[in-house]
Amino acid sequence: MLNIVIFGAPGSGKGTQSDLLKEKYSLFHISTGDVLRAEIKNQTELGKTAEGYISKGQLVPDALIIDMLAGVLDSNKDSKGVIFDGFPRTLPQAVALKEMLNARGTDVSAVVALEVEEAELIDRLLKRGQISGRSDDNFETIKSRLDVYNNQTSPLINHYKEEGKYKGIHGMGSIDDIFGRISDVIEAI
Ligand code: ADP
Repeated sequence: MLNIVIFGAPGSGKGTQSDLLKEKYSLFHISTGDVLRAEIKNQTELGKTAEGYISKGQLVPDALIIDMLAGVLDSNKDSKGVIFDGFPRTLPQAVALKEMLNARGTDVSAVVALEVEEAELIDRLLKRGQISGRSDDNFETIKSRLDVYNNQTSPLINHYKEEGKYKGIHGMGSIDDIFGRISDVIEAI
């Protein structure tokens, strides 16, 4: 199985590139943010809990996210591989992901990391906020999401470098150029 973690700060283009990747390589795409937004829309217990964290730009607690991910994974056992978008975001999530995949006889193939300057991230998220209507795409929440990324998520860079799985991609330029860089990395796996 080809299991790709698409990694990067908020606004780095994970969702955009995942859409292209899933088509080209016939992968199943799991976006934890999208799953959470669907839970909120349906006002499930998980959705109600998650809403408070998301609107403040904080992470939803690990235990909830890990359970949620295991459920999604089990409902798609037959795929050729999975793109994990927005997961893992903490070290415990990375450990849980490895355990979940190992238990299913597979592992993370590569961590494709979109590297984008912070000023560009803020610019992209503010622009997206004007069209997406996402409650967390406003200046104050964007700031806390970037802080959360720097403090809680960026330690995963070294973690995956040590495992030899980290593939840094220059994430600025046209969507097609970035996708070309990602495809080159995937074809070399
Ligand atoms: P972005 O990458 O632009 O921040 P996402 O849609 O991936 O957007 O995530 C939106 C929000 O959903 C996050 O700010 C966080 O509150 C919550 N979330 C998504 N994935 C996770 C995760 N793996 N762990 C904890 N919280 C998460």
